[in-house]
Parts: sequence; structure tokens; C-alpha cells
Amino acid sequence: MPDPTRPNPHAAPVPPASLNPARPVEVPVPEDAGAARQAGAAVNGGERVRRIAAESAWVDVMGGASRHEIRLYDHGFIALIDAMPRLVPAGQTADAAIVQAARVSYGAGTRRVNEDRGLIRYLLRHRHTTPFEMVEFKFHVSMPIFIARQWIRHRTANVNEYSGRYSVMPDRFYRPGPDQVRKQSRANRQGSESLFGTGEQTPEEALTARRFMEYLDEAERLHARYTDLSERGVSRELARIGLPVSLYTEWYWKCDLHNILRFLSLRMDAHAQEEIRAYAVAMHDLIAPIVPVTMEAFADYELGAVRLTRLEVEALRSRAAGGSDALATDNARERAEWERKRAELGLA
Ligand SMILES: Cc1cc2nc3c(=O)[nH]c(=O)nc-3n(C[C@H](O)[C@H](O)[C@H](O)COP(=O)(O)OP(=O)(O)OC[C@H]3O[C@@H](n4cnc5c(N)ncnc54)[C@H](O)[C@@H]3O)c2cc1C
Repeated sequence: MPDPTRPNPHAAPVPPASLNPARPVEVPVPEDAGAARQAGAAVNGGERVRRIAAESAWVDVMGGASRHEIRLYDHGFIALIDAMPRLVPAGQTADAAIVQAARVSYGAGTRRVNEDRGLIRYLLRHRHTTPFEMVEFKFHVSMPIFIARQWIRHRTANVNEYSGRYSVMPDRFYRPGPDQVRKQSRANRQGSESLFGTGEQTPEEALTARRFMEYLDEAERLHARYTDLSERGVSRELARIGLPVSLYTEWYWKCDLHNILRFLSLRMDAHAQEEIRAYAVAMHDLIAPIVPVTMEAFADYELGAVRLTRLEVEALRSRAAGGSDALATDNARERAEWERKRAELGLA
């Protein structure tokens, strides 16, 4: 039996104290924290684990709530149910954990709030991403299966989903209204454009929108057959296979802030499907008050940014030199994208 009080010769090398947050480091503490410190030492026999009191009071980043929830569509929601750090020093936000991690690499320096803000903005601008992985958020989400299919592609999250093998799938479907039936986009094979139900709707368009609603009715009626087959003893894992992807599922989804920003960047984008965009915007709104400095930087450097290709930069250089800003390519899609960017930049 190894003696826990003696050094283990097989243990991994321990980094210097300044790089090892698990190692107790003497920090100046206020007088009233002394008793708590001593109590901690007594509980642990004064050995190995030492409890170092906080320098100031802690506050809950969720204000003591068990969840912060946003309802979406008929049966959907996204709820923030936990955060890391959950507790932060009074007067700070969860952005503090990013600054704390970054200072391991950049040194303590001064700790003024505006400098912390500058550091976070610098990190995000220069894609020094690992400090953002020190913050995590856990969500409880209810969404239609066709949205879950897109969402699950973000592999860096931890997911636990409702089991249709173990439990009966509830009779809950995503159902856009007859005036929300979108037309296939002509420009983008993956997208929609205008609605069938708005403006001057032709009789043919009205009929198509009605047919779409009948199609959903038919698909939703399958739930009664699913229930009947389950009651007749067909296993739930098999009975469910005829249900449509408009059925709602639920999961717990936990992800670090770096990868959440990536998720938001892709799924708040105009190219993402409208329904997942609604969830992404809601996720953004749930975390923005908890990491406000990061989300401000994210808005400045990602959401509000326009990314330029080399050809586009050359077109701009040519324009600045008094020439044309036409793109040097025959590719129609690239040209169309440049047109959109020119309009966004006020150059069109
Ligand atoms: C508008 C839009 C349209 C899309 N259309 C389609 C489509 O038609 N078909 C389709 O299949 N998908 C489609 N996708 C999904 C897309 O291809 C990505 O799978 C999805 O956006 C997740 O991105 P990600 O891999 O960067 O995210 P994550 O899985 O969260 O990964 C984040 C980053 O981690 C790294 N990483 C994670 N896992 C690995 C790994 N195993 N190996 C190496 N690096 C890894 C990569 O750098 C990756 O960028 C679409 C996405 C969008 C936003």
C-alpha cells in the first residue's frame, strides 16, 4: 500500500506553483477569512488539501435561478441550466475565468476592468481561443428532430438525448402556420426565400400552402398509429421509426464558450435554416449577460464582420488606386458573393 504522505516516484512531474492552480498558493486574504482558512485546514488535518478562502464575496452568475428559459415555437425551448464558472467574485462576470486563464500565459499584470476587457478583445481578435474554453454552459433544449439533426453535427459538445427506445415519444410536432410556408430558393439550393402566404397570393400558391398543411396533418396522424402499435406490444425502438422529423426531442447540451461561439457564428448566420437560427439567437441572448465582454467582442469581430478573400482584397486595392473593383474570376457564385459584400460595405 503506497504511503499517501510520501512523494510518488511514478507521478507526473508537477509544474511550478505559478502554473498549477490545483497547488495551494499563499495569497493575502482579508482578516475575516482567517477563521474559514483555519477550519479548512482542521477538516483536512492540515495536510495535502488546503482550502484557501476567497479574496472577496462570490456571486451566482445566474442570480440564484435554476434555469433561464426562452420559449420557441409551439413546444420548443432553450434553457440555460448551469454555467462554469457559476460563482464569480462580486462585481465581475464569468468573463473573469477567461482573463484568469489568459494570465497564466501573459502574467498577472494589472487587474483593472478595462484592461480585462482589452485582453479579452485581443484574445478573440487574434484567435487565442483556449482561454474561452475555460467557460462552459449547459442547456436543456426541446427542438424538432430535423433541427437536432443539424445541431448534433457540432461535435465538441457533450449531449444526452431523450431516449425513444426507453420512453414513449410525446405527441408534439413542429408546425409552421399556413402563412409561414417558405418557397425553395432559386439562388441557394439549401435555402428558402419568400413565403407562399404573403403578398399577392395566387390561387395556385394558396392551394400549395394548403397542401403543405394537409401533408403535416397526415404525418402527425402517424402518432396515433405509433401509440396503437406500441400498445399492441411492438417495441418502442421499432414503433418510432415511422414518426416524422417534425416530432420534438429533448436533450442536455454542454459546451465550452469557444465552441459555442463557433456554433453561434455558423447557426446565427443568414445561411443557416431559419428554425435553428432562432435557437442560436436565443442561446446567444441567454449567455450574453453572463459573458458580456466576450459577447461584445464577438459581435464586433464575428457577427458584424465582413470576411474578405484575397481576390476581394485585390479588387479593393485596385479600387483605391482608381481602378475597377471587379473580381478577377469567372465564378458566378464568387462574383455574387462579392456583390453582396460590396453592398454591405456601402461600395455598390
Ligand atoms: C449553413 C450550413 C449548411 C450545412 N450543410 C451541410 C450539408 O449539406 N451536409 C452536411 O453533412 N453538413 C452540413 N453542415 C454541417 C457542417 O458541415 C459542420 O458539420 C457543422 O457546421 C459543424 O461544424 P464543425 O465541424 O466546425 O463543428 P464541431 O464539430 O463543433 O467542431 C469544431 C471544430 O473542431 C474540430 N474538430 C471537431 N471534430 C473533429 C474531428 N473529428 N477531426 C478533426 N477536427 C475536428 C474542427 O476544427 C472543427 O471545425 C452545414 C452547416 C451549415 C452551418
